[in-house]
Amino acid sequence: MKLAMIGFGQAGGKIVDRFLDYDDRTGSGIVRAAIAVNSAKADLMGLENIPQENRVLIGQARVKGHGVGADNELGAEVAEEDIDEVQNAIDAIPTHEVDAFLIVAGMGGGTGSGGAPVLAKHLQRIYTIPVYGLGVLPGTDEGGIYTLNAARSFQTFVREVDNLLVFDNDSWRQTGESVEGGYDQINEEIVRRFGILFGAGEVGDGQEVAESVVDSSEIINTLSGGGVSTVGFASEEVEMNTGGGLLSRFTGEGGSEDDLDAANTTNRITSLVRKAALGRLTLPCEIEGTERALLVLSGPSEYLNRKGIERGRKWLEEETGSMEVRGGDFPREEPEVAAAILLSGVTNVPRIKRLQQVAIEAQDNIDDIQQESEENLEELVEDDEDELEPLF
Ligand code: GDP
Repeated sequence: MKLAMIGFGQAGGKIVDRFLDYDDRTGSGIVRAAIAVNSAKADLMGLENIPQENRVLIGQARVKGHGVGADNELGAEVAEEDIDEVQNAIDAIPTHEVDAFLIVAGMGGGTGSGGAPVLAKHLQRIYTIPVYGLGVLPGTDEGGIYTLNAARSFQTFVREVDNLLVFDNDSWRQTGESVEGGYDQINEEIVRRFGILFGAGEVGDGQEVAESVVDSSEIINTLSGGGVSTVGFASEEVEMNTGGGLLSRFTGEGGSEDDLDAANTTNRITSLVRKAALGRLTLPCEIEGTERALLVLSGPSEYLNRKGIERGRKWLEEETGSMEVRGGDFPREEPEVAAAILLSGVTNVPRIKRLQQVAIEAQDNIDDIQQESEENLEELVEDDEDELEPLF
């Protein structure tokens, strides 16, 4: 499907920038337009692929291009004040060629955390196409204020979008990595997963039409009804020979297309589907109780079959208890077969409950500290017997 992506704040901008790169590399054609919005000038300048004219600096009157710090209330305020600037950039893109908006933001900071829900609300009022959010949760080691920001932004963002796709930095953090290097890898994971998902149905010229195609309306239907979504993913390398035919890693040297028997293909698909659903999700949660799901199987068409997808779909129905599980394939001439599963309307998410608890504790602590420091300051400034009088 074709998306108008808007990256709000630093993380949002970097991820959308990366989506453009993914689009270029794979020819997936999902990014119809890309915009970055930020209150920090330096962050906008650091982007590589988003066109200059699509980089919008907001809040200049208030923060002079220096960002809002981690103050997401200020982030929301400057977004509201300068929403026309963002709208001007959106006016320049062909929205009639777009299937949906995708607003991307890190929820732990200030600009994206506060601004993304404001933009979602604004777009919902103006356009009839769906407005989705891709929200990134902060790592638990980032500290209380980031958790508090994320918890408040999460509540607001979910309410304002047609569906909030969540990615949890915490479950993807790798130890021993520099923060920046770590984000590079994480961002690549994000674009790969969401790229395959949204790329399904975008059949380009000369590409094969899938046996049972996933099209944009199926993605939209899976996401409709609102709520929170998570994505599972698993892939396996397969060999492609230069003649356009394929050799499976498992058939060994001298194998031929005939060796790729249907049973192997079906079994591979079934186990990939299980790995994707039971492995690491973008937002860890219990999959039982998921309202709707979409299974996308991508890879060289010789490695995809209807039976495998059907079996995977049935299995997902049983595991989730959902009556609305869609499935289809997405032929791509890449040397891997991949299963991407969109689980939409998940409700059993302990990670969110923990985030909220920590956020409430952080809020209480902040209140206590503020009260204490007010008292301490008063104690310092005022003389004990109130003998001195201020000037005015
Ligand atoms: P903002 O510019 O004020 O919106 O804040 P940032 O986007 O810099 O940071 C918000 C949160 O996003 C941080 O707390 C991190 O959890 C996360 N974050 C920052 N940069 C990246 C990134 O490049 N990738 C990912 N996945 N997360 C990031």
